[in-house]
Amino acid sequence: MAEQEGLQYGKADFVLMDSVTLPEFMDNLKLRFEKGRIYTFIGEVVVSMNPYKNLPIYGKDTIEQYKGRELYERPPHLFSIADAAYKAMKRRCKDTCIVISGESGAGKTEASKYIMQYIAAITNPSQRAEVERVKNMLLKSNCVLEAFGNAKTTRNDNSSRFGKYMDINFDFKGDPIGGHISNYLLEKSRVIVQQLGERNFHSFYQLILGAPEQTLRSLHLQKDISSYMYTRSIVQMKSSVNDAGEFKEVSEAMKVIGFKPEEIQTVYKVLAAILHLGNLKFTLDGDTPLIENSKVVSVVADLLGSKFELLEKALLYRTVATGRDVIDKQHTEQEASYGRDAFAKAIYERLFCWIVTHINDVIDVKKQDAALHGKNTVIGVLDIYGFEIFDNNSFEQFCINYCNEKLQQLFIQLVLTQEQEEYKREGIPWKHIDYFNNQIIVDLVEQQHRGIISLLDDACMNVGKVTDPMFLDALNKPLGKHAHYSSRKTCPTDKALEYDRDFRIRHYAGDVVYSVVGFIDKNKDTLFQDFKRLLYNSTNPVLKNMWPEGKLSITEVTKRPLTAATLFKNSMIALVDNLASKEPYYVRCIKPNDKKSPALFDEERCKHQVEYLGLLENVRVRRAGFAYRQVYEKFLHRYKMISQLTWPNHDLPSDQIAVQKLLTECGFQQDAAYGKTKVFIRTPRTLFSLEEKRSEML
Ligand code: ADP
Ligand code: MG
Repeated sequence: MAEQEGLQYGKADFVLMDSVTLPEFMDNLKLRFEKGRIYTFIGEVVVSMNPYKNLPIYGKDTIEQYKGRELYERPPHLFSIADAAYKAMKRRCKDTCIVISGESGAGKTEASKYIMQYIAAITNPSQRAEVERVKNMLLKSNCVLEAFGNAKTTRNDNSSRFGKYMDINFDFKGDPIGGHISNYLLEKSRVIVQQLGERNFHSFYQLILGAPEQTLRSLHLQKDISSYMYTRSIVQMKSSVNDAGEFKEVSEAMKVIGFKPEEIQTVYKVLAAILHLGNLKFTLDGDTPLIENSKVVSVVADLLGSKFELLEKALLYRTVATGRDVIDKQHTEQEASYGRDAFAKAIYERLFCWIVTHINDVIDVKKQDAALHGKNTVIGVLDIYGFEIFDNNSFEQFCINYCNEKLQQLFIQLVLTQEQEEYKREGIPWKHIDYFNNQIIVDLVEQQHRGIISLLDDACMNVGKVTDPMFLDALNKPLGKHAHYSSRKTCPTDKALEYDRDFRIRHYAGDVVYSVVGFIDKNKDTLFQDFKRLLYNSTNPVLKNMWPEGKLSITEVTKRPLTAATLFKNSMIALVDNLASKEPYYVRCIKPNDKKSPALFDEERCKHQVEYLGLLENVRVRRAGFAYRQVYEKFLHRYKMISQLTWPNHDLPSDQIAVQKLLTECGFQQDAAYGKTKVFIRTPRTLFSLEEKRSEML
């Protein structure tokens, strides 16, 4: 249990509460928040409150205080968790992971950065140059990824619009020798449209406001964000956001990571091409669309290393194969606009993925190196978009919130379920602790054939025939009676839901109304093949490499690609499997209020989060539970030297009795329980004492 700083700061571990009730939990959380104690343990879980102000608790001195210490020796901190994960990895050669969860704006991304800084600070005491290089790149990669993958939303001025999981690889000395970033579904619809009060990705503003005059001129850009449709939404940013300054920092970071000058130029060209594309207008000549401002077409063609005629054609026609013939089919105006926007979104998304791949190329541990470094262990850090509810929720929120359901399910599995099942299996007296299991919502979304994603995919099979409202109808029939699903047709009295447009999911973290508008298009995520070919044939080799599939001619493209939702679902299932294979450490982030205020503890908002995160249940399981367990034989193997009864070997009837005798002799009988195959020890302190006794004997 955590070191107490004095009770004026409240209890450092919720496990120490006098009684486990919501009011007492809230009192402690509030008291600590008000005293600037933003971290509190629940056993080995860290509960983190967003302070919304800079606290002097992340510096070198603090790092020194946590380095190598046991979890409960110091007040709760992100560094405690980082150190625990690091120690488990180093001492026991275990792959570990740190899962950071909480809703949008709760402080996940900041937490992940402090954790990485801590790991960087405590490793490589011998200052090996290669390790320093790797550390520097891991840290620098954050700033690049945030520029291209984060944006201002109404919830958070620097909201992650992609999911990120980063593995850090360590050699046998425990020094970082590489890493790997996996990114999950970027919210690319933001490129073309933003909700009221929101912005496009930071990268666009950084370029327009930060690039030198000469660069802007070569990109045909003006230093004025209101000149571009895609960045037009005028949003007052806090003075702390310095787009121009960040431009320099990001460019510098890209250089350090190893982006070549022509690659950085291509990044700018793609951003500029997207901005210009947004200004491209179609007009109608009778029924057929024409491009109104063809000057823009030549600028974009130039930036993308293509030709005016080719780009114009790709914007107005698409090549289709009918039997053995290949013909050019002219777009309707709607198709042309759709095509342009799909093109803008796709090149941004591809650019983002290419940046991630590029970073991975330099930080990945090469196979031959891995052999040199001997056993190589991993700490994974997961920082993904948090649960979110906006005024208008679409396909992207559906995916993001589904992702959060999956992570909550993992937490339940690992922290609440498995723990209790083990006590039952081992015959340890145990009173079951109830909690809401969100598996039912996970199933609602992902179940084969009957889940929302399957039904959405079915709707997308019938090209052009199924409309969004028809998809909604298709949901209503099988799901109408589901406890976590409703729509106006299944619940006619519910006036908050619009007929033919909305459905509601009762998520673990709250009710969200989704509008089906755009679901089918976003799920199909069609990009006309003509655009892919155009980029594959670019004279810019960097761009050409980003679009290898453009190589295929129209008659060769036959396979129906997986839909966006199914790809996302598969990536989530793989992610959860990966996390479950590692020893998990949890940071549960809480947002104190919706005003970004450092002084306001919004009781209701906080209570809601404590409830849905299952924190009280977490305390109950933890309090009734045991910090440590080990099979008898292994326990004896480690501690038998402590007692004459067990050293060097015992002649007692069983290992279990031997362990009982040993612990009783040490005075720990109150703190232990004996299961069928394992001994359970309640507090870490006992284990710590055992370790001390052991080292005295050695
Ligand atoms: P999330 O990733 O959960 O959506 P962020 O980590 O981006 O949230 O945090 C949102 C904002 O809250 C940050 O931009 C920062 O202003 C503030 N914040 C979060 N954590 C801290 C912290 N530990 N110290 C100071 N400010 C913080
Ligand atoms: Mg974030």
